[in-house]
Amino acid sequence: MDEPKFGRVFKVLFVGDSKAGKTTFLMRYCDSTFTSRFVPTVGIDFKVKILDRYIYDEKIKLQLWDTAGQECYLRITTAYFLGAKGFVLMFDLTSQDSFQSVRKWMTLISDLTSNNPKVILVGNKSDLTESRVITKEQGMDLAQSLGIEYFETSVKDDTKVTEAVDKLVTLICSATTKPTEVPITTMFRPPENSSMQLLDYDRQMAELRNRRKSKEIFHQGTIVFVGCACAILFCAYYFK
Ligand code: GDP
Ligand code: MG
Repeated sequence: MDEPKFGRVFKVLFVGDSKAGKTTFLMRYCDSTFTSRFVPTVGIDFKVKILDRYIYDEKIKLQLWDTAGQECYLRITTAYFLGAKGFVLMFDLTSQDSFQSVRKWMTLISDLTSNNPKVILVGNKSDLTESRVITKEQGMDLAQSLGIEYFETSVKDDTKVTEAVDKLVTLICSATTKPTEVPITTMFRPPENSSMQLLDYDRQMAELRNRRKSKEIFHQGTIVFVGCACAILFCAYYFK
């Protein structure tokens, strides 16, 4: 199948406590594999998945960022929040602690982003029915109180993995406007608290200033040229 040259890239971050299953989820989703080995994620890592879905005739490309859940990596992890269109907030259905951390992660997301990203809550390891400590109702209640959708997945059994990501993509798509639909008056206005957008804004304003300066130089040059031509004509006429 021909790959289109351009695609719409959606940055999606996987967050949640360590051992919730984020890395394994990504391996299942992107490479259809599962490992029972736990290899702690160091800092941050990402995978790209090209979907068979389009938005405004552009193929959707997912940039899926796997983050480390440990406190010691929090500064690195949260630095990547900016510009994310979606978050998969994951907890382990067999761990009370990881469930209790969900609100902390949600607060971090709302504090560190300004573009109103879409978030879904995922309770993982639903295959471990014996050791499960969080009920479906508890998960649903928490998601409802946070105003987000809830999924229970088993990366091991490949249950609801693709469905969860598909739903997140649908939510992101519904909040994505056509590039040409952005009103010209808001094009140069950066959202509040966004240093990356501010840099972009500064660059665009500098470009505008440069363009205006070039125009002024051109006009001044034209005036000098016309003035000189008139002076030459006057001298030629006067001293002939
Ligand atoms: P992360 O720290 O959130 O990235 O967690 P990992 O993806 O490294 O997973 C932690 C452990 O949980 C690993 O040993 C995985 O094999 C295991 N695991 C992940 N998902 C599942 C699942 O759905 N069911 C079961 N039984 N184990 C899982
Ligand atoms: Mg990991």
